[in-house]
Amino acid sequence: MINLQEHIDKKMFEGAGFFYNEPMSRHTSFKIGGPADLLFVPKTNKHIEDMIRLCIEFGIPYYIMGNGSNLLVSDLGYRGVIIWICKNMSAYKIEGNRIYAQGGILLSSLSKHIYRAGLRGFEFASGIPGTLGGAVYMNAGAYGGEIKDVIVEAETLTRKGELRTLTKEALELGYRHSSLQIHEDIVLSATLVLEQGDKKTIKALMQDLGQRRKDKQPIEMPSAGSTFKRPEGYYAGKLIMDAGLSGFHVGDARVSLKHCGFVVNEGQATCKDVLELIDYIQNEVKSKFDVDLEPEVRIIGEF
Ligand SMILES: Cc1cc2nc3c(=O)[nH]c(=O)nc-3n(C[C@H](O)[C@H](O)[C@H](O)COP(=O)(O)OP(=O)(O)OC[C@H]3O[C@@H](n4cnc5c(N)ncnc54)[C@H](O)[C@@H]3O)c2cc1C
Repeated sequence: MINLQEHIDKKMFEGAGFFYNEPMSRHTSFKIGGPADLLFVPKTNKHIEDMIRLCIEFGIPYYIMGNGSNLLVSDLGYRGVIIWICKNMSAYKIEGNRIYAQGGILLSSLSKHIYRAGLRGFEFASGIPGTLGGAVYMNAGAYGGEIKDVIVEAETLTRKGELRTLTKEALELGYRHSSLQIHEDIVLSATLVLEQGDKKTIKALMQDLGQRRKDKQPIEMPSAGSTFKRPEGYYAGKLIMDAGLSGFHVGDARVSLKHCGFVVNEGQATCKDVLELIDYIQNEVKSKFDVDLEPEVRIIGEF
């Protein structure tokens, strides 16, 4: 990669973080991934705009990362710049039942603020370990709720560096889908609307959903959540279990015994292990049940 360091005007990026040759295994919930040429941590929208402009100017690939909870990064890493929109960009404002928050805020933090404001409807998101930006991009959801139910609009930056506001309709939110996945726009912030609720009830629901997660999902192990999308009419986890693959493993990548929908990293799993396991599962499920499993986890980097 061209040496970006030479072209970076430090004043322009005051307050931002630059981590060269940074292992992505440190930043993904799977704890897998080789080095990114540059992991860039912006503090302002302008930082993101300027970095993208530089990348375009020098023909350097870039990728947006939130909390890295739905990412599988290659063992060889990522050739280019990973722009990490996280706690540096996590301001929020609650006015009445309207919430404005930056893309880097964690859903767990945002749901606490929302609970304190006595608003209901966001409890479903409290246990999803991603950022608001990642959740809008994925239309994240759980226990009958999804981002689609609560979002009004998102402020985005296009790949050409233009700011625009996308309404809920323009976001085309569907099951783990948004139009952002087609245009690759970046979520800078989002506005949500919720309903007034009773704090005790909100807290109880958040606790109940948290407990259900603990009971049913291997949240104590590194993973990227559900490995596959839910195929229409089926549950990926059940198909995998019925195919006899519970506990099946390639190296340290294993089909969780607790929930077959999760591939977990038992310690030293590589991206190659996970990809081989994914491939094996897909072939077994296809041959036994004639169902195609599509990965939900986003796979990036040099292969
Ligand atoms: C234990 C566990 C449980 C999980 N449970 C659930 C669940 O119940 N429901 C669910 O839906 N998901 C679940 N997930 C998956 C994951 O948390 C969600 O997909 C989450 O929305 C990803 O957010 P993130 O910030 O981590 O995004 P990342 O993993 O960093 O990125 C995911 C995608 O979003 C894009 N992206 C990230 N931030 C932005 C941004 N600001 N603008 C534009 N694009 C962006 C990235 O480019 C990438 O393509 C779980 C994961 C784990 C590890």
